[in-house]
Amino acid sequence: MPNLLILGGTTEATALANAAAERGLRGTVSFAGRVDRPRRQPLPQRIGGFGGVEGLEAYLQDRGITHVIDATHPFAVQMSANAVMACSKADVPLIALTRPYWKEQPGDRWMQVTDIAGAVSALDQPPRRILLAIGRLHLADFAPNPQHHYLLRLVDPPKTPPPFPDHHMLVSRGPFTKADDSALMQDHGIDLVVSKNAGGTGAYAKIAAARALSLPVLMIDRPAMPERAEVGSVAEVLAWLDHAGSDLGV
Ligand code: NAP
Repeated sequence: MPNLLILGGTTEATALANAAAERGLRGTVSFAGRVDRPRRQPLPQRIGGFGGVEGLEAYLQDRGITHVIDATHPFAVQMSANAVMACSKADVPLIALTRPYWKEQPGDRWMQVTDIAGAVSALDQPPRRILLAIGRLHLADFAPNPQHHYLLRLVDPPKTPPPFPDHHMLVSRGPFTKADDSALMQDHGIDLVVSKNAGGTGAYAKIAAARALSLPVLMIDRPAMPERAEVGSVAEVLAWLDHAGSDLGV
């Protein structure tokens, strides 16, 4: 009987957990604990880091995990790297459930940067009114540019006050629509959006709204992921579970 470990924190992970539960599969969904109230899952859940590669390897062995599905966010590079190494050491098959990255569409005004540091450098300019939609973990990185007005939209309030004198904070989980985000940007006089290239539909409204309002977007590219087997849908993960280890080069 398979015993899955789903590394979660995304809508894709929740969709996979639903599909696995419907099939009567055994498994656990793991969260880092970054949000105060993770979405309820149809499978048992655990919260908190494993303690690096060694901790994850020990967890896989102690719990008799038969398959790991990395459905973390495309910016969760540390967890994904740890999963590759721990699964290799513990000889447990691993697959990543990923989403395509967003591509610039006609009407978009993107400036692409390779990482958060690149975004911080690009903001070394006269004051703007910025929608900074990058999650609470990275707010402190933007402290070198306190001249801007920052509109912050966060799932939970930050643990420490944002390091900007001029900001407005909204605590809201979404999902948001293009109409919601267009109205928000207009109400706050936003003239620049800063976003990670998360991909998927859940966080796309602000990108579509920026296009509709002809606003520039500072788009942060995804970090490089370690080599691993990847699929793009829950159905493909289920198919992999049926044949794990044989047809996807794992
Ligand atoms: P990260 O930098 O890759 O991970 C840092 C450490 O957090 C990992 O080494 C691991 O600790 C722990 N961790 C991360 N994901 C975990 C999980 N699903 N279960 C148990 N431990 C986990 O990741 P992150 O960027 O902080 O993201 C954390 C979580 O938030 C991920 O699950 C991701 O799906 C979700 N998320 C991230 C973003 C983003 O922009 N980064 C956005 C939305 C959601 P140990 O080494 O102790 O095991």
